[in-house]
Amino acid sequence: MVDKKSIIIIGAGASGLAAAINSARILKESGGDFCVTVVEQLQRVGKKILATGNGRCNLSNVNISKSNYHGDVDFAFCALNEFGANQTIDFFKSIGVLTTQEDGRIYPMNLSANSVLDCLRLEASRLGVEFICQLPVLKIEKKQNTFLINDEIKADCVIIATGGKSSSVHGSNGSGYKLLSKLGHSISNTSPALVQLVSSCDFCKHLKGIRVNGKITLKINNKNVKTEYGEILFTDYGLSGIATMQVARYVSVGKGKNPSAKITANIDMACALSYNDICDYINERKKINKQLSCENLLIGILQKRVAQVVLKKCNISPQSKEIQTLTKSEIQSIASCIKNFEMDITETKGFDSSQVTAGGAITCEFEPVSFKSKKVKNLYACGEVLNVDADCGGYNLQWAWCSGYLAGKSCAEEILNVKNK
Ligand SMILES: Cc1cc2nc3c(=O)[nH]c(=O)nc-3n(C[C@H](O)[C@H](O)[C@H](O)COP(=O)(O)OP(=O)(O)OC[C@H]3O[C@@H](n4cnc5c(N)ncnc54)[C@H](O)[C@@H]3O)c2cc1C
Repeated sequence: MVDKKSIIIIGAGASGLAAAINSARILKESGGDFCVTVVEQLQRVGKKILATGNGRCNLSNVNISKSNYHGDVDFAFCALNEFGANQTIDFFKSIGVLTTQEDGRIYPMNLSANSVLDCLRLEASRLGVEFICQLPVLKIEKKQNTFLINDEIKADCVIIATGGKSSSVHGSNGSGYKLLSKLGHSISNTSPALVQLVSSCDFCKHLKGIRVNGKITLKINNKNVKTEYGEILFTDYGLSGIATMQVARYVSVGKGKNPSAKITANIDMACALSYNDICDYINERKKINKQLSCENLLIGILQKRVAQVVLKKCNISPQSKEIQTLTKSEIQSIASCIKNFEMDITETKGFDSSQVTAGGAITCEFEPVSFKSKKVKNLYACGEVLNVDADCGGYNLQWAWCSGYLAGKSCAEEILNVKNK
């Protein structure tokens, strides 16, 4: 009887699907009798892909640099240099998804995450990949040359593609760390990254729903840690928006080092104006709108509710104070407050609200590019379960496709080598 070699991939997310497709392609081309199976704990595959990019799936970015990645960046770049944005575009073209770009961000041409997932599933099915859904993998044992999964499924090679522990509603609940750890791998501290920030400021509810296109600087014990430009969204609990999420990873890092650290988010609400421009603007209003109350002073440059909070922070009553009575120091404190609107940050919204997990399986225990475990023969890991995460903008999915594709390749090649010996 011919011995049918098998690869089991744990997790049908972005990296698991890329690994399944590429390993099945290589094995199919070889003409042998092989079996690639993806085990997924949720009812259906690729649930998180559907949620990416607000349903549009920002699947990569044309500008990939080390500064966009965090964790084991050098390990990541050994692979990203082999499989970057161009290879991702080609890979998607090969499964029928054409792409488009917006400010460097790469999306499917029809802006539909549904199509991305459909085409991944169709290609996997065409190649004969089998899916077993609603099966959480709780145990992986290695017995001689064979893996035994949940005491019942046998495999020659296993690829762990379980993701991190962000957004557990989409399936990634940290179980991959436990599986890898039981197989002898080390896991670094994990924390939520790309996540909203919680503030103790009493005006949060008043500002709920307001969006500002500005600059946000995260400060820890009054030291600037990270600055980002872009959308900042005020919420009833604190801050959201892409610029906020980009600085958020440093809150967990700061709290980890010193739980009592004072953390603030300092927002420039009017990047286009300098401090002096704002003073000049107020002085001009003071000349023209003498008797108007301060409530109307800033409505030409800030949203009304933001203006009210700025004035209150400067101890100026919006309704009862006339513009003409503003003193020089009051004008200066309004201008400073607009350029440096400070909010106390107590914590992040946590793993379930986060888009990505910082930390994970330490990559020096895996071979670069091939993603082979140095500890367990024929074990591989790819995607977010590894200690690699990235900024908003398609960089995380790029890592998932790249690491999944290359892990699938080396796993298939390993099987073919053994078979041919
Ligand atoms: C709301 C949201 C929006 C995002 N938008 C973008 C974006 O536009 N661009 C971008 O680059 N990145 C985006 N990201 C991040 C990106 O989606 C992830 O980094 C990427 O999906 C990680 O891929 P992965 O395959 O490593 O893990 P995942 O996609 O998390 O997949 C892991 C899979 O493994 C399964 N699994 C886990 N444990 C087990 C187990 N024990 N047994 C069986 N199955 C298991 C899970 O159910 C899941 O299906 C977004 C994330 C979120 C939450």
